[in-house]
Amino acid sequence: MRLGHRHAGATLTIDLAAIRWNYRRLAEMVGPKVRCGGVVKADAYGLGARQVAPALYGAGCRDFYVAHLDEALDLRPHLPPDASIVVLNGLPRGGEDDCADAGIVPVLNSLAQLDDWSACARKAGRVLGAIVQIDSGMSRLGLSPRELDELSHARLRGIDIRLVMSHLACADVADHAANAYQRARFCALADRFGGIPKSLANSSGIFLGPDFHYDAARPGAALYGINPTSSRPNPMRPVVRLAAAIVQTREIEAGDHVGYGWDFRVERPSRLATLSIGYADGLHRALGRAGAVYFEGRALAIAGRVSMDSITVDLGDLPAERLGRGAEIELIGPHQSVDELASASGTIGYEILTSLGDRFRRIYRDAADRPQDSDLQKRDDAMKALMP
Ligand SMILES: *Cc1c(COP(=O)(O)O)cnc(C)c1O
Repeated sequence: MRLGHRHAGATLTIDLAAIRWNYRRLAEMVGPKVRCGGVVKADAYGLGARQVAPALYGAGCRDFYVAHLDEALDLRPHLPPDASIVVLNGLPRGGEDDCADAGIVPVLNSLAQLDDWSACARKAGRVLGAIVQIDSGMSRLGLSPRELDELSHARLRGIDIRLVMSHLACADVADHAANAYQRARFCALADRFGGIPKSLANSSGIFLGPDFHYDAARPGAALYGINPTSSRPNPMRPVVRLAAAIVQTREIEAGDHVGYGWDFRVERPSRLATLSIGYADGLHRALGRAGAVYFEGRALAIAGRVSMDSITVDLGDLPAERLGRGAEIELIGPHQSVDELASASGTIGYEILTSLGDRFRRIYRDAADRPQDSDLQKRDDAMKALMP
């Protein structure tokens, strides 16, 4: 069911200018010789690929990565013809003709996908572009070393390999031994393709230094404001704000219970507000034990369990007249980043963004308000400290 959003209970604000700023910062980090793409799979991590991809194009991005062929076909009309759209999860069975007709570039992850693409090229009577993925140690997608041994020129007939790629399993942990291991394996295996350009880095991979940049980078999360360096200050600009409206407030007595399961009992008379957002909108149930929301910088604890369509929060001693029906309460914003909300939910920022529901009023900001100068300075400093 598709809803109108004139009376939405919560507002999701997406700052396209911040996404572009993040893109330019990452492109600057890898330098002009490396193609910096943008990963817009899962509807641009929940933020809307149809809006985000053209904004990235405007910032100079020409390589767009999605997971599914259907995502690529959906995005194609929203980007100019010189944008390439790549399907990371590979060529689905029976999808060759749709893929070729729309000029989509599949990542070929197995010998079967290679054979299908080569057959499709022969049938079409033209050369078709593709990316070949090698498994360098994640054991998820890509050709294994043994399958690489079975590759021959005949098998690649009709295929123009534009890039040889692999994916890092532990890039967010800078000193993890897997990074050097995967890089060495990737180097050795990708060398078999001679001078064909190579790609290894996701967002965090870019921050592992120039050795990981190769010829093309594939950042996703960092574009959307998720911290790619995990344990260090976030060098990216925040992109998302999420605020929910108060539906109703009430006063309860010491000893009263709140929410499903009567999980929560107040020890003193309390004032509560019920907000129009719940787990159906992507708020994890785990937040019910540890989470808070913010009003003008003051933390309001979530009282009791997260319901499907609402949460209840403790207003503490905040003035009643400021916090009536319709007042907006921050869930993601200046006082709680996506990463902080994720950690309170026992998950990662990626899952928070891709869980965001479609009942929100969505506002896309563009040439919008600049963040405070001091914020910018802090991020600039964090970025300088990370520049290899
Ligand atoms: C999702 C994905 C990316 C982007 O990863 P981030 O951590 O979001 O930057 C890059 N490459 C592949 C193969 C992916 O699946």
